[in-house]
Amino acid sequence: MDDESPIKLTRLRDLIRDIPDFPKPGIVFKDITPMLRDQAGLSLAIEYLTQPFRAMHVQVVASAESRGFIFGTAVARNLSAGFVPIRKPGKLPAPTRRETYALEYGTDVLEIHADAVQPSDRVLLVDDVLATGGTMQASARLVEALGGKVIGIAVLIELTFLKGRDKLRPHPVHSILRYDD
Ligand code: AMP
Repeated sequence: MDDESPIKLTRLRDLIRDIPDFPKPGIVFKDITPMLRDQAGLSLAIEYLTQPFRAMHVQVVASAESRGFIFGTAVARNLSAGFVPIRKPGKLPAPTRRETYALEYGTDVLEIHADAVQPSDRVLLVDDVLATGGTMQASARLVEALGGKVIGIAVLIELTFLKGRDKLRPHPVHSILRYDD
């Protein structure tokens, strides 16, 4: 597929629906379901997430539940890599490593299977939306705690005004659609 053309990016942007005040007042939720439903939109999104990493020798793609799974598995397949799920506590059956991270109010926890990443595995993190960066930061810490090397972070949507990218330094962040308000 060719580079990210402005026309195709506009098409993709048009397939993302803003839902004000969901799941709570003041949040504008980026609803990706119209894009998932669209044949061209879905394949474009997956292709754009994959493209910069084709020559990066990615061995594992890791994503946090649940929308991360939709893109993470598809990107892993495109890169001939494996896929590792990062999940909310109590969901993974084998021994896990856990990371607690800050939310706007309170904390949350993510877990990974302790044997899911081998030392020096080259890992790409994938998600639908980068907001504050807390989810990705916790995911990166989990991968690194197991000895994996995070070679990049790919997201479909970046809410730039929340500055999640800063929190993830020095990891490079690749985003397809950026929203600055
Ligand atoms: P964060 O940890 O703040 O970067 O939030 C990232 C996670 O929350 C992602 O997995 C997103 O799926 C979800 N998320 C956060 N903000 C939004 C939003 N405005 N619209 C849709 N999903 C969001």
